[in-house]
Amino acid sequence: MTEPKRAPGGFPVVGVVGGGQLARMMQGPAIELGIQLSVLAEDAYAAAALAIPSAPVGEHTDLEMIRKFAASCDVVTFDHEHVPQDVLAALEADGVVMHPTPAALRHAQDKLVMRRRLSELGIACPRWAVARTASEVAEFAEEVGWPLIAKTPRGGYDGKGVLLASSVDDMAEWLTQVGRRGPLEDGLLLEERVDFVRELAVLVARSPSGQAAAWPVVETVQTEGICTEVLAPAPGLDADLASVVTEAALRIAGELDVTGVLAVEMFEVRPGGASSSSSYVVNELAMRPHNSGHWSMDGAVTGQFEQHLRAVLDLPLGDPRPRAPWTVMANVLGGEDEELYSAYRHIMARDPGAKIHVYGKGVRPSRKIGHVNVSSDDLESARERAQHAADYLRGTVRE
Ligand code: ADP
Repeated sequence: MTEPKRAPGGFPVVGVVGGGQLARMMQGPAIELGIQLSVLAEDAYAAAALAIPSAPVGEHTDLEMIRKFAASCDVVTFDHEHVPQDVLAALEADGVVMHPTPAALRHAQDKLVMRRRLSELGIACPRWAVARTASEVAEFAEEVGWPLIAKTPRGGYDGKGVLLASSVDDMAEWLTQVGRRGPLEDGLLLEERVDFVRELAVLVARSPSGQAAAWPVVETVQTEGICTEVLAPAPGLDADLASVVTEAALRIAGELDVTGVLAVEMFEVRPGGASSSSSYVVNELAMRPHNSGHWSMDGAVTGQFEQHLRAVLDLPLGDPRPRAPWTVMANVLGGEDEELYSAYRHIMARDPGAKIHVYGKGVRPSRKIGHVNVSSDDLESARERAQHAADYLRGTVRE
């Protein structure tokens, strides 16, 4: 494998396992800071491989490949959470510096591990249980009522691996996979269906030295299980609740010894409701830059990709405060048309303030292929502008 070329000045090489859009979006701030990135990409046309010169091709499950890759990097971080724990353990034994560490990352890889740990810490969660049999499902349903939510503990994303179930029959197929090697090996995660007011996310960064910084709490809007819009900060959020959820996220980062960016996805609930005595419950964790933080690239003094690099290198963290009263991020989902560039003339002419980010990924219906950020003093106009640009790129509006 060719070693990444080192720039003069003693700058470290940060290795990113996984060649998706997150690794790609680290390249902008890495270039500005003079930090070299190297990415272990799934193929030569992966989003990050198109933007980062040092991009050896290899599978994230291939220990020998990752070993060679890690040997050419000063620190290794991740574009996704799918590197198996046995591979991570072998790298750790080799002395590879990884952020987040395998011990922390387990909580983002396995929703059962996450639920157990957060419950031990007394962090508000939906009522939950692990079920291996139909009778265990029925027992939990007695407690929380139907419908309930069933999840595959591992390997889910964008709502895949989440099921709203109205009866045991809806889970029949999944129950047959319990005990077999795979995402359902240890059973199904069952959760009460939370009657939430809205979904929130708290993004924090934490360095190996323990310095931490939190961005403002955001609201995330999902359409058919996919995040389509993020409002920063979350409109009308009670100031006390904002402090409580931010403290909870910082506490999770500290207790789990997370290094790098941590996204804590939450549900805001009515105080005193059935779900919890607090006004929020935690849904899930991601230990990497996250879709709920894309707004920060243009809307905060320090964006999440720069902050992640600072954190994994144990550099002092940057200021996470917003630059504008509101920043709205709209995801661009793939539409019918593979061609995107011709949309630029219209979008750029219509709205010189809209910041377009495109990932260099092939267009497939509903695949996240980019996002648009708009900052403004006026929330509604920022929403309209960001959504228009995203819809135009998707091809669902043509004027
Ligand atoms: P993924 O790992 O695919 O992102 P999540 O656990 O975040 O899966 O769930 C995806 C979406 O499903 C959430 O954003 C939320 O809208 C809904 N959801 C998940 N868990 C619950 C729950 N316990 N109650 C109600 N809705 C839920």
